[in-house]
Amino acid sequence: MAPSEQRRPALAVLTSGGDSQGMNATVRAVVRTAIARGADAYAVYEGLQGLVDGGDRIRRFDWDDVSGIMHLGGTVIGTARSADFRERSGRLRAARNLVERGIDRLVVVGGDGSLTGADTFRAEWPGLLDELVAGGEISAEQSDAHRQLVIGGAVGSIDNDMVGTDKTIGADSAMQRIIEAVDALASTAASHQRSFVVEVMGRHCGYLTVMCAIAGGADYILIPEVRPAPGWEDELIARLMAGRAAGRRDNLVLVAEGCHDRSGTPITPQQVADLITERAGEDTRVTILGHVQRGGAPSAYDRWMPTLMGHAAAEDVLDAGPDHVSQLVGVRRNRVARMPLMEAVAQTRAIPALIEADDAKGAMAARGSSFAEMVRVFEGISKPEPMFPSQGTTIGVMHVGGLAPGMNAAVAGAVRFGISRGHDIAGIRRGFPGLLRGDVGPLGWPDVEGWVVRPGSELGTSRTTPTPDQAAEVAAALEAHSIDALLVVGGHRAYAALYALLEHRAEHPGLQVPVALLPASIDNNLPGWEMSIGADTALNEIVQAIDMIRVAASASRRAFIVETMGRRCGFLAQLAALSVGAEEVYLNEDPPTLARLNEDVAAMVAGFRSGRSFHLSVRNEQASEGYTTEFLRQLFTEESQGLFGVRAQILGHLQQGGTPTAFDRAHAAALAARCVDWLTGQVLAGRHDWRYVAMVDGEVSTASLSRMAETYDLDARRPREQWWMDLTDVMQVLSTRPTGPVVALDGADR
Ligand code: ADP
Repeated sequence: MAPSEQRRPALAVLTSGGDSQGMNATVRAVVRTAIARGADAYAVYEGLQGLVDGGDRIRRFDWDDVSGIMHLGGTVIGTARSADFRERSGRLRAARNLVERGIDRLVVVGGDGSLTGADTFRAEWPGLLDELVAGGEISAEQSDAHRQLVIGGAVGSIDNDMVGTDKTIGADSAMQRIIEAVDALASTAASHQRSFVVEVMGRHCGYLTVMCAIAGGADYILIPEVRPAPGWEDELIARLMAGRAAGRRDNLVLVAEGCHDRSGTPITPQQVADLITERAGEDTRVTILGHVQRGGAPSAYDRWMPTLMGHAAAEDVLDAGPDHVSQLVGVRRNRVARMPLMEAVAQTRAIPALIEADDAKGAMAARGSSFAEMVRVFEGISKPEPMFPSQGTTIGVMHVGGLAPGMNAAVAGAVRFGISRGHDIAGIRRGFPGLLRGDVGPLGWPDVEGWVVRPGSELGTSRTTPTPDQAAEVAAALEAHSIDALLVVGGHRAYAALYALLEHRAEHPGLQVPVALLPASIDNNLPGWEMSIGADTALNEIVQAIDMIRVAASASRRAFIVETMGRRCGFLAQLAALSVGAEEVYLNEDPPTLARLNEDVAAMVAGFRSGRSFHLSVRNEQASEGYTTEFLRQLFTEESQGLFGVRAQILGHLQQGGTPTAFDRAHAAALAARCVDWLTGQVLAGRHDWRYVAMVDGEVSTASLSRMAETYDLDARRPREQWWMDLTDVMQVLSTRPTGPVVALDGADR
């Protein structure tokens, strides 16, 4: 190899172990980040086996080799389990194959097995090179030029079973697949008053099961982390019977595939079904979801998050110094987070021992703080009988403002969790006007049956909010219905209305009740909370719509401008752009200028001239007053000079109307439970604070409404600082082809 070639760093990416949706986004991000940084990028086909095999299984990748892959399920570069790589002899061949190509940096996307194997390879690397030199397979110069193998890991696994990351790549999409199936089963089960036992994947991890049980309104779960104590069968039957007595038409039990009882005997779905048939006399069916859970297009989250992970992993391995410690690149609270790779693997591998020792608490804690919380929420909402004595209190629940998918799950969660905590719940229909009209009535456990699935607002909502001089009326209405605490599920209008009413709280005893605000808005423009209820669903709707637009546009040369909602908050536009690999995004936070539009148009025209067939701009609806979507369409059309067509697509209300995603449903229920807990504490302490859900020091908490304006711009209707703003940089790195000759394949960067 010529010395000049060796000077360019070379990096390879591979996917290994079980496939998962979102691996392609990671591969795309790694390859493009490497190329943008001036490195050579390689893809290894068929996982670690491809390293051993070499040949055309290790291919140099260009910018366009990763075009049009982000929306595909599975992994386009293949994956495999490799017996050869487990042997030193296999790894010796792998080392030779890499050194021959000048590759000494590796990003591995896989599970704990793959990451362990890769780390062993890294540790052995200098010895392997010495052996190759001794055997005359590589030269001493080659060995000297690559003394260190740098590896970075990202976890591809639908199970969400890795310590060190909140989410593994593919878990969110799997959750979506499961919830689609569970929704379908729930409707047929309800029609026939049947029971269904559904097996969910997750060898040692109950994450998918718990989340989908909350999101799907299941009655009972069995998860690997909690080996049920003897007598669990009685509890299961009692729960199902109580559900029937409370008016449930379907019975749904979710069983994670790796469940055992305390004696270590596996618990199979069939065994559970037989039990229900025999003891409850129910017509019970088993459904094993199986590999469907791995399939299908990745969700929006499984596009933007793996993109960020891949970008970060590539940067890490390219920047690594001689003392580099291999890192697992994961995510913590929507940010890329790193942890020493083998520490994460060791902690993950310690969990089965905790399970076997019946340390359910320890096993759940090891899964992260939100795991145990989700189990607690599920227990609260799935038991029809109150778990606490009556508190003699009434919590009022209402929606205010625009629709957000998941609002119903929030109310249903509040009702059931509130009842479990001994409260009565009053449903306030159609927002503030409903409250003032007296459209208020009790909501019982069966009243919210099936709500969790539904889009729209079962309680009804209204954009009309009280003026400050109606404060006395609001107070009187709350008093008239004996409301001791109020949960308001809504967006900007809800926050702004209560903020204004707060000034009058001291004047009216009726307003002296605690108020909790639960963030629900597709715009994701609320203070204190990074992902409001509904935003994930809206983002998925947008991404699916753009996928369809691309297909429709693929036959002809087209530039598309897609306009998203969000008012003056660019969250949906930015995250959608990142999720679909758009070339440009126009935000109100960073409004387009004439100079920028000039550059963008020039780049677009140059792209089409050199063979591209698709160009995508995403524009937030209020990005700019003058440079409207129609203005952009006309500008692009004029400048295309007939080279390509230009279309504008305003997505409109489809963004608000989707069936809520599993994520939105489960989080709505979890936040509702938090609010109920907080309101309970307030009532017991005789306090009447008004607060909104907020992340405080990395924990789910609340923040005082009276101080909202410190972090929230009421005029612009968005937080003063928005966590996602710096994602534009990553998007631009990945969508801006470095200048130079363009090799067009199908031209489209999908
Ligand atoms: P996952 O990566 O999803 O956990 P596996 O456990 O099947 O999947 O591991 C995938 C591959 O990683 C294995 O087929 C093997 O090639 C490699 N691997 C796993 N563990 C080791 C190990 N201890 N040493 C070397 N290679 C390993």
